[in-house]
Amino acid sequence: MTSKNNIFKNVKRLRREFPLQERIEAADTATCEAYATVLLAWLQNGSAPQQDIIPAVELEKLLAIDAVVLTDAGLGCYPFSASKTGISVKYDAHTVYAMCAIDALAIPFLAASPATIHTHCSNCEEPIVVRTDETGQVKEEIPAGAQVEYRQISVQHSACCNDLCPGITFVCPTCVANAHLKNDLMSLEEAAVVGRAFFHFQSCLDVCLA
Ligand SMILES: [Zn+2]
Repeated sequence: MTSKNNIFKNVKRLRREFPLQERIEAADTATCEAYATVLLAWLQNGSAPQQDIIPAVELEKLLAIDAVVLTDAGLGCYPFSASKTGISVKYDAHTVYAMCAIDALAIPFLAASPATIHTHCSNCEEPIVVRTDETGQVKEEIPAGAQVEYRQISVQHSACCNDLCPGITFVCPTCVANAHLKNDLMSLEEAAVVGRAFFHFQSCLDVCLA
């Protein structure tokens, strides 16, 4: 079951709180190309590219708009985290870490591959497993009725991965039923649609820049 209102509300909220697509579309061609290079490296290799994969001047511009994240392990690029998070996504021969729950659900669509997400309820630590097909449709969720919680943040003061992402997590049905979660909740199907809507621009980048 999905609610169009809930999907639309959360897509708008995510775009407002993290206007990634708007920032990339406002960037110049060289910066867009550098961004596409980082993203493609993630999709093809399933691992973080090093910072020298793009010119230093473009790296600075992408860091300034929070489109990539510089870590000791290489460059993160939403939805892919170079640092380990509590959300892993297996697709093809790769295991990657997602920046947040919505990001995890977008990865199979971007990779055009069936995927298995392993994580834990952010409230009680119960293991949660989600399987999707190559279009990102949720095919199995263990336990059934797991949801995505999108917590309110007061002020965003640094990169999205530090402020926003830790508040977008998977929660188990028991914790959902306990109803002390006062934040926005989405079914996994709804969150997967939000993820595909938010990240769809990435799948157009190669075509647009060709
Ligand atoms: Zn729980």
